[in-house]
Amino acid sequence: MDTNGQQHNFDFLVIGSGIAGLTFALKAARVGSVAVITKKHRAESNTNYAQGGIAAVMAADDSLELHVRDTLECGAGLCKEDVVRTIVSEGPALVRELVERGVKFSERENNSRDKPPARRAASAKAALAAAAGSLGGGANVGPTTEFDLGREGGHSRRRVLHAGDITGREIERALLAAVAAEKNIAVFEEMLAIDLITTQKAGQSGANRCLGCYALNEKTNAVEVFAAKITLIATGGSGKVYLYTSNPDIASGDGLAMAYRADAGIANMEFIQFHPTCLYHPKAKSFLISEAVRGEGAILRGKDGEPFMKRYHPMADLAPRDVVGRAIDAEMKKTGAEYALLDITHKDADFIRKRFPNIYAKCLELGYDMTREPLPVVPAAHYQCGGVVTNADGETEIEGLFAAGEVACTGLHGANRLASNSLLEALVVAHRAAHVAVKQHSTLSAPASAKATAGKPRSTLPPWESGNAADPDELVVVTHNWDEIRRLMWDYVGIVRTDKRLLRARARIQNLQREINQFYWDYKVTPDLIELRNLALVAELIIESALQRRESRGLHYTLDYPSLQPDARDTVLRKA
Ligand SMILES: Cc1cc2nc3c(=O)[nH]c(=O)nc-3n(C[C@H](O)[C@H](O)[C@H](O)COP(=O)(O)OP(=O)(O)OC[C@H]3O[C@@H](n4cnc5c(N)ncnc54)[C@H](O)[C@@H]3O)c2cc1C
Repeated sequence: MDTNGQQHNFDFLVIGSGIAGLTFALKAARVGSVAVITKKHRAESNTNYAQGGIAAVMAADDSLELHVRDTLECGAGLCKEDVVRTIVSEGPALVRELVERGVKFSERENNSRDKPPARRAASAKAALAAAAGSLGGGANVGPTTEFDLGREGGHSRRRVLHAGDITGREIERALLAAVAAEKNIAVFEEMLAIDLITTQKAGQSGANRCLGCYALNEKTNAVEVFAAKITLIATGGSGKVYLYTSNPDIASGDGLAMAYRADAGIANMEFIQFHPTCLYHPKAKSFLISEAVRGEGAILRGKDGEPFMKRYHPMADLAPRDVVGRAIDAEMKKTGAEYALLDITHKDADFIRKRFPNIYAKCLELGYDMTREPLPVVPAAHYQCGGVVTNADGETEIEGLFAAGEVACTGLHGANRLASNSLLEALVVAHRAAHVAVKQHSTLSAPASAKATAGKPRSTLPPWESGNAADPDELVVVTHNWDEIRRLMWDYVGIVRTDKRLLRARARIQNLQREINQFYWDYKVTPDLIELRNLALVAELIIESALQRRESRGLHYTLDYPSLQPDARDTVLRKA
């Protein structure tokens, strides 16, 4: 029998401690108690690994209208324009709030880093005020020399705020420091959410409402109950469903799977963004080689040393990210090579070391001197554009349940994500979700309200039942199934798809799911088993979504339907 643990009661439950979860928690804590549960150390998140930066309109030659246009173009007809406008226009003020919380974005070299705070505030404020006026009216934003703005693929202007090439780590650091200073927030590390608790699952009538979740305390192996009036899923993406990914191990799609099992709609899971160049090395399973390396002249070569990008696109190595990813994939499939080579050795060694200090150091640590030899690279699953269906306030179809960040599908990204729009979306939607959740909380807490009792979590929620589950004695099955899913998703549901490969993947996943479910109900839950079950479900949702989309649009590319259908529509899946 599992040792079932205690019930924790909070006003707000936040599952996940990346940018979305922490932003929401800090705002909700103004009116109530907040539990942040997170399955590893509190900093371990996709957020912590973000390199490039966060997109927001800050420059004098930029405008919100241009950022909206770039986002819509990248989204290939599937973005929700009202959501794009909301997120883009609220971004600059919230980025400013990050700065006030202590995030140190890189400044332009001719800016003094020691500028007094008043001056920093004034210039940022001026830029924001001007930026706010530029949506619709088309006026340019005011001048700012404040931040060193990067330019990335698909952006028509420089608008990516960054902290060197460790932007995510800096944002995570500042948000965690703010959380530590907030007495209304309790952070539970190594607390792995297993499933949501809903009125529907608890057999209550009326609209389906979220009451909290079950979570495995990885220190005690007890399954504990978290009861809350409002729950936010902020569990990030699902890159681990693929053999090669830039994502850290936490990205196993848990929140998405939990939401689906609770009957929430899941949209557009076929749109997985692959980063073209991840270092191919057994010890560097998720290390990205930034696109900026190609931007500075690096050339992709096959295993015979021949450059190949000219055969795929007139822009050769500077072709768009998805074209480069497909080209590497095609070369690898054609020649049987396990990787392509990224060669920048023709550039001056000092320049390489100065321009890419982190990449150079990391590669050297792993035995590659990029100034002298080409780097082995593979495309890798990078970002999940689809997710739990929400509006721009993060509200899901289930009462009392919000979702924000990479786990959610608001309609910002459409069929393809514009670089650095994901941190922006997580920040803005978490902020808006907190605003709505705080209002709902006050309604639920008002004694005179008719909803006061209806929305409150039951004083005691049903405890976790694990029956007579024995200890798993065949953990090798879990490892084997985990590897099989990731390999088959890579081979059959990767960058270039066909119906035949997708159907083959579907048949394999259905078999694996039967086995995994059997295992899940027969044995005591472990972190690996919980993640495996979620991974298998996410794989199924990606395959089903891909089969439903009979066209090539944005990130979904299939040889069977190479052109666009005239009517752009979302793929929405719900539990039958
Ligand atoms: C290498 C890399 C570089 C990137 N670069 C950029 C960039 O430059 N710009 C940009 O905009 N985006 C970038 N991205 C994407 C961006 O980092 C993510 O989309 C964003 O950080 C997601 O934030 P989040 O808060 O939604 O989730 P995350 O930051 O991933 O946080 C998820 C949290 O949920 C927790 N969690 C998950 N499952 C459970 C569970 N079952 N129980 C409890 N806790 C759970 C995790 O432990 C983690 O704390 C990059 C991503 C990667 C991997």
